[in-house]
Amino acid sequence: MTTTRIPDRAEWLAAIPSLALRTRLFIDGTFVDARAGRRFTTENPATGQPIAEVAEAGPEDVDLAVAAARRAADDGRWSRLNPGDRKRLLIAWADLIAAHNRELALIETLDSGKPISDTATVDILETANCIRWHAEATDKLYGQVAPAPEGIVATITREPVGVVGAVIPWNYPALMAAWKMGPALATGNTMVIKPASYTALSLLRIAELASEAGIPDGVVNVVPGPGGSVGEAIGRHPDVDCLAFTGSTEVGRRFLRYSADTNLKRVLLELGGKSPQIVFPDVSDMASVAANAAIAIFTNMGENCSAGSRLIVHRSKREALLEALEAELERWPVGDPLEPASRVGPLISRGQMETVLDYVESGMGQGARVVTGGEQILRETGGYFVGPTILDGVRNDMRVAREEIFGPVLSVLEFDTERQAVALANDTPYGLAASLYTDDLHVAHRVARDLRAGVVGVNAYAEGDNTTPFGGYKLSGFGGHDKSVHAHDQYTETKTTWITLRPRD
Ligand code: NAP
Ligand code: MG
Repeated sequence: MTTTRIPDRAEWLAAIPSLALRTRLFIDGTFVDARAGRRFTTENPATGQPIAEVAEAGPEDVDLAVAAARRAADDGRWSRLNPGDRKRLLIAWADLIAAHNRELALIETLDSGKPISDTATVDILETANCIRWHAEATDKLYGQVAPAPEGIVATITREPVGVVGAVIPWNYPALMAAWKMGPALATGNTMVIKPASYTALSLLRIAELASEAGIPDGVVNVVPGPGGSVGEAIGRHPDVDCLAFTGSTEVGRRFLRYSADTNLKRVLLELGGKSPQIVFPDVSDMASVAANAAIAIFTNMGENCSAGSRLIVHRSKREALLEALEAELERWPVGDPLEPASRVGPLISRGQMETVLDYVESGMGQGARVVTGGEQILRETGGYFVGPTILDGVRNDMRVAREEIFGPVLSVLEFDTERQAVALANDTPYGLAASLYTDDLHVAHRVARDLRAGVVGVNAYAEGDNTTPFGGYKLSGFGGHDKSVHAHDQYTETKTTWITLRPRD
């Protein structure tokens, strides 16, 4: 977080013409056109207007990018650097990203519709923090010596996997890339990264800053293009050693197939969620619960894998909580994401907006009641705005309670007993995040333990920070975790070296 003043809307608008957007593929340290010369348009979801034409990679460009990453992995220009030097270069890169906070935040907001109040205070600075955090661990992680028999020295060391292919979603374009790049690069790997097609611009600029920081050519390569061709080409490439994916569960399954059908590359999946928030009857500060519940579901327009989309409230507190939530929503203005007062911007695309509105309709069809929101608003902007939406009277078998909406839609469910609350919370195919609100220490510990989710927030919505692992149970994840030193394990192979000592003469 920063305490620096956020420029006002007029200042952001005035800065747009001088943005130098990077729109070509970044391969082996330079920007190049796609071999086939194709380009695609990226638009601003707040206006529906085009921003730029971005080079569209094809499988032949993926081959070039992987070849560059392979050379950089094999000749040791990165993996064999002294850890302290790798650390220094990564920190220089993190510093440059932070120094370009305003430029990158503006790019991120224009391309994704995320509120500038988020991108300028969280997304880009946390991208820098994440890279810095992992960089700092580079020369602080030790190997092990095994308790081997007399006459043997056995060491257990970690080595980079090699070339990591990363495929990234559009909801936190820079930050999700950083969650992969931080640990993968700190542990000495090289990378080929495909950003989401809606949001390629920030990562292209961030990759350029890697070169400016002195990170060797070929270590970071960025290939925008369609998931179905570029994503699959990375997934199936025989020279890619590890796949790191964040996105939908359906596409995540494909990565396991890509790996199974080719070279059994390691697969790490961070997937969707349908996260519960349980409100117990003893809570005393309902305004604080409402503030956290709103953050959980309305931050980033609900386009958040760990969004707390199911509010499971004790029957006796339902009305009080709904009242507190409605009051809280006055603090969630919807509008132009370049206006610093806006806390809710547009959804990423017309398609995503239609999906969200269809879910609201399906909820109503199954008997839920719209308390607020549920419609497209600000149509005159050309953007894809849906305000914070609350559905009351939801049952856990309704589609709105079972499927990930990925929009600003909160479903409210009721319970009578703790056992029932836990059963409802766990009755989902997902298991990414959960929160619970109670003043009772016993309830907090019991329920936190019973919830089948990778991260549980008690008395506040929480995803942890760089020091804690982030990953899901059940359909929410596979193979590893983002963040923390746990993320380093997944980007390294474990090597045993068994040294037989010659007996003394
Ligand atoms: P998505 O459709 O799964 O797309 C994610 C990435 O995969 C994009 O770069 C996409 O490329 C690419 N892709 C699409 N089809 C592919 C294929 N057949 N082979 C290889 N790559 C392919 O998901 P999304 O629409 O970006 O994001 C929404 C979903 O992601 C939600 O379900 C959400 O829960 C999940 N998510 C999870 C986390 C987490 O940390 N667990 C974080 C954020 C989002 P294109 O952009 O070209 O389509
Ligand atoms: Mg865009």
